Amino acid sequence: MRIYDISVTLSNDMPTWPGDPTIEIKRFSDMEAGDAINVSEMHTSLHIGTHVDAPFHFLGGDSTTIEALPLNLLTGRAYVLHLPDNVDIITAQVLGQASIPPRTRRLLIRTRNSNIWARGEKAFQTDYVALDESGANFLVERGMRVVGVDYLSVGPFKAGREVHTILFKGGVIPIEGVDLSQVAQGRYTLYCLPLKIAGADGAPARAILVGV
Ligand SMILES: [Zn+2]
Repeated sequence: MRIYDISVTLSNDMPTWPGDPTIEIKRFSDMEAGDAINVSEMHTSLHIGTHVDAPFHFLGGDSTTIEALPLNLLTGRAYVLHLPDNVDIITAQVLGQASIPPRTRRLLIRTRNSNIWARGEKAFQTDYVALDESGANFLVERGMRVVGVDYLSVGPFKAGREVHTILFKGGVIPIEGVDLSQVAQGRYTLYCLPLKIAGADGAPARAILVGV
């Protein structure tokens, strides 16, 4: 059984969404400073690194929050699709031409974004590859339940609201910030477990793929 860790490592120098709280992990109690034990604390946006968005993030009101998402949605058979590095935006046309197996319900899309993680880029990249509205509608119409993308938003920078809204209203949950640089195209079993945070709009997750 081969396990692929597609989670980004949380650290103080990782790229974070512009304008959101950045991440700060520090030693609260430090043995090197004479304390009896090491205890760390973390302050961060919940939309950091590899994370799951809950519908509440964009729909608000009484829509589903992160701790209420069923785990059988985020766990199960998944397909990793490779798109060529020259794809700038994931449209319905791009997805229509890709060979997504019928009955796929969890789709992880590897784009050139995964190269950003592979080379350890610390600065936030605004020109990442994302879905446009046609791509989001395509996934809803195909009955997708989960879509994974390899940078920090499913939608384009500063133009992501409509893409998120289409997905959430269509019952598709986004996993954002997965690193697919080491994963070949094909079928896997996905295990994606967002932290169980009451009433939250999203949460960091440990996500792995197991080869089938
Ligand atoms: Zn998010």
